[in-house]
Amino acid sequence: MGKTVELYYESAYITEFDASVLYCSGREDGKFEAVLDKTAFFPEQGGQTPDVGRLETADGVEFEVFYTGIRKTDSGEDEIYHVLDKSIEAGASVHGRIDWEHRFSNMQQHTGEHIFSGIVNSKYGYDNVGFHLSDTEVTMDYNGVLSAEDIKEIEKCVNEAIWKNISVVASFPSEDELKDIPYRSKKELTGAIRIVNIEGYDSCACCAPHVERTGEIGLLKVVGVRNYKGGVRVNILCGKRALEFLSTEHDILSDLAADFTTSFDNVPSSVARLKDENAVLKADLYADREKLLEYELAEIDKGLKNVFLFKGTDTDTNLMRKTVNLLAADHEGFCGVFAGNPEAGYRYIVASGKAEGDARAVSALLREKFGAKGGGSEKMVQGSISGVNCEELADCCNNL
Ligand SMILES: [Zn+2]
Repeated sequence: MGKTVELYYESAYITEFDASVLYCSGREDGKFEAVLDKTAFFPEQGGQTPDVGRLETADGVEFEVFYTGIRKTDSGEDEIYHVLDKSIEAGASVHGRIDWEHRFSNMQQHTGEHIFSGIVNSKYGYDNVGFHLSDTEVTMDYNGVLSAEDIKEIEKCVNEAIWKNISVVASFPSEDELKDIPYRSKKELTGAIRIVNIEGYDSCACCAPHVERTGEIGLLKVVGVRNYKGGVRVNILCGKRALEFLSTEHDILSDLAADFTTSFDNVPSSVARLKDENAVLKADLYADREKLLEYELAEIDKGLKNVFLFKGTDTDTNLMRKTVNLLAADHEGFCGVFAGNPEAGYRYIVASGKAEGDARAVSALLREKFGAKGGGSEKMVQGSISGVNCEELADCCNNL
């Protein structure tokens, strides 16, 4: 068994290559794992998704590469394996093609991360202690807190580095040379150490593929920051991913501006005005419904033991509580309000009336009959129910 030649170390831009299959074995999930004598498929490692693509034999049979992984063999060697949809014969010659769009995006995100982490390290002294690059998300964890202003400043510096179009140089310095090179490292390293240098911004031990010049990153946008384990977790997007994210945001803002028939910069004040108007209308509605409630309750026969009312989905929870309290003061049994409809489900509040029964019996019954959620005290319970209509609810409650 020979070690696979790693073509991505010759160049990160090798997208197609010829190789021989060393061996191939089946897996329990019905897929197959092939080891090649050389490969341009970069395996999953260092928190980054692997390359995917295709292998094709000389007679034109295509094999999909779902995944590329790396593992230790029994003899302690690293082994790169390609997960295929079908078995391939040992000794077969194959032509490999990596999914370049996927790989190039990873190279953009990854190189953007280097510049960002290099600036965080040199300016603030924090280390990147966690990195994750999936097909939808790029996160970096730093062991120190960065303010919103710090993040803005770093983002600006990273983009300046991108516009300067600096060379990204990977090398394997000797042990002696390494002693004189200051570099960041995410873990204890053994064996030949590959240093990736971006002059003036970062020097870091890293085995992944990067873009050749920073200009290829295109753009870096910070899309999320939150406190994480005493430091911060930063979400970034680079290149096409950044463009797609900003395009989506732009479309949303365009729609909002059109809805308000205003310009982009007036959207926040329009939303604020709408919120204020909504608060006033809600207060007015509450006051009117409170008045209406007095009339509605006056119509209810005081001799009734249990009383259950059905209201619309937009019924205020405070008003529901007030209603059941007023009803409970006049009636012997259980008094409740269901707010909702059969499609959206119902919220409910039930109180025990003058006879002081245990309201929890009602929530238990609703749970048993309709799978309702919720609970509360002897005096009052509340919760929610779905998949039921008001006739079924009324039937159930009238038999209490
Ligand atoms: Zn790297």
